[in-house]
Amino acid sequence: MNKLRRPVIAGNWKMFKTRDEALQFIYAINQEVPEASAVESIICANDVLLRCLVKRQGENLKIGAQNMHFEENGAFTGETSPLVLETTGVTYVIIGHSERRAMFNETDETVNLKLKSAIKHDLTPIVCVGESLEVRENGTTDDVVKQQVVKAYDGVGADEALKSIIAYEPIWAIGTGKTATPEQAEETIKAIRNVLVSLYGNDVASKVRILYGGSVNPKNVDVLLQQENIDGALVGGASLDPMSFLTLVKAA
Ligand code: PGA
Repeated sequence: MNKLRRPVIAGNWKMFKTRDEALQFIYAINQEVPEASAVESIICANDVLLRCLVKRQGENLKIGAQNMHFEENGAFTGETSPLVLETTGVTYVIIGHSERRAMFNETDETVNLKLKSAIKHDLTPIVCVGESLEVRENGTTDDVVKQQVVKAYDGVGADEALKSIIAYEPIWAIGTGKTATPEQAEETIKAIRNVLVSLYGNDVASKVRILYGGSVNPKNVDVLLQQENIDGALVGGASLDPMSFLTLVKAA
């Protein structure tokens, strides 16, 4: 981490937790979450739960969505528009998670449209990029991830880029218990920061937060966060337990 950038710990609950479980979690940690000025703590939950969680979030915990459509309205059965997300009071939205890319036809083009739409609606996008195991093994990780970033930020201005967060999540590390080594994560995140330098210059690139995601847990979080370019974590499994999530937030 670098002191110039405020760390972010974002939990991605995916399709876990009922309403009761979600509320128990929030009540268990609300009083304990460190000051938002020290670390941005976010829980990204299922759409149906958002309004109820926003109403009960403590002042240092923010709530986010896990996806949205880029259009404000239209014949898109089952989708959630940015206008509706705004009315729930959420302030973050995950965009282009690899599960959505793999299972719900999310592409670099839709990621780009969603990124622009989220910023237009004052939602902070957490833009996910990351390579498959095959790409990691054939040695083209940095090229593949750089391309994802270039396409996601196509036509996005510097002021808008500053409002976004990037999450580097190697697909082979998600939910597998196999974390990228701190060195692997740092190397690719540094490559992502260099893409931002080429798109927006040093000043903007040095301010955008880039998170690591993929089997982050209370045991490995410290070594990951010690890396200069890693500004926090996007966490699935280890964000489901309130004490585990709190440990991650306190480590940042
Ligand atoms: P994981 O998930 O922490 O369970 O690997 C990370 C993610 O999918 O964002």
